[in-house]
Amino acid sequence: MTLSETASGDGERERWQAQLRDSVRSVDQLARALDLTPAELEGARRAEREGLPIAITPYYLSLCDRRDERCPIRLQCVPRIDEAREVPGDLVDPLGEEAHEVAPHLVRRYPDRVLLLVTDRCAVYCRFCTRSRIVGDGGGPVSIDRLEPALQWIAAHPEIRDVIVSGGDPLAMATDRLERVLARVRAIPTVETIRLATRVPVTLPMRVTGELVRALRKYHPIWVMTHFNHPKELTPEAIAACERLVDGGFPVMNQSVLLAGINDDPTTLETLFRGLVRARVRPYYLLQADPVRGTSHLRTPLSRGVAIMERLQGRLTGIALPKLICDTPGGKGKVPLLPDWVVSRRSDEGLTVLRTFRGEEVTYVDPPRGAERDDAPTR
Ligand code: SF4
Repeated sequence: MTLSETASGDGERERWQAQLRDSVRSVDQLARALDLTPAELEGARRAEREGLPIAITPYYLSLCDRRDERCPIRLQCVPRIDEAREVPGDLVDPLGEEAHEVAPHLVRRYPDRVLLLVTDRCAVYCRFCTRSRIVGDGGGPVSIDRLEPALQWIAAHPEIRDVIVSGGDPLAMATDRLERVLARVRAIPTVETIRLATRVPVTLPMRVTGELVRALRKYHPIWVMTHFNHPKELTPEAIAACERLVDGGFPVMNQSVLLAGINDDPTTLETLFRGLVRARVRPYYLLQADPVRGTSHLRTPLSRGVAIMERLQGRLTGIALPKLICDTPGGKGKVPLLPDWVVSRRSDEGLTVLRTFRGEEVTYVDPPRGAERDDAPTR
């Protein structure tokens, strides 16, 4: 590395660390930055006392409309008193992660993959966070010693091929700390892919530095799972962060959460998904919001997502169209939700009438039974 590279690395590091240092974390700071409504002020006071704390980077705050409480960025990061409301179906741990913990900081819900929770910190605390029960609770990054039982568990289970490193946000950690975790995971020969689950490209894009990309690419294959929810988040700086990751060889996949009043309309999502594809980010999932306690004001009925996907089918190229997913409460696994494109079936005759995105009905004719392979699954 040259002297000038070192100097620019120091400058890059200082820039993202200053964002964390200068983040809004208190009611007073928030009230100075935005014209808070009574519902927000009361919500912020409550968040300071209990529940999910406040953290908003100056960068993400700059995307908030100072005066409009319905601003889609503001709704994601500014607490509201609605968080105090509990409704039937609300859960503290909606994905049953505690029940599926196989070692400290390690969750297994599927046969071939695990979730490794390496920190409780994030650059911004999202008001709809599935892990609001633990993020920002003050523990900070988990030391390698405390991750040791989890790493040993993974090594002892060769059926685990995919490790999702999450938190909190792993990219909110110092690079050397994150590298120590990744080096240990990568040293387990049966682990094929590592996924980094991060909102940093959205909330702190200057953190995706050249130094970070160089450090992480040693542990390829690493996939980056990011989380853009609204086209306003696709700023030139965020797009550049995604492009640095893609240029570094990291496939970048996006998981949006469907959020009431933020992105629950086809036009907003179409703009978002098209923008992601232009930035070489694959819209991967559109997630039904988990029933996290205190988030009912941000959730939609299941039918809303299905109706949106129905509108987007055919209007958007397949690479821009994510799967709509409900991660079932209790951690029972993800279920894809689809509009019903089948009008009728006459199975005995092998005829299926399908509805296209233009509303036309088209009959598909199965091959004659005798033409199938002997070992084909039966209809
Ligand atoms: S960045 Fe992810 S883990 Fe952190 S608060 Fe937001 S949704 Fe939760």
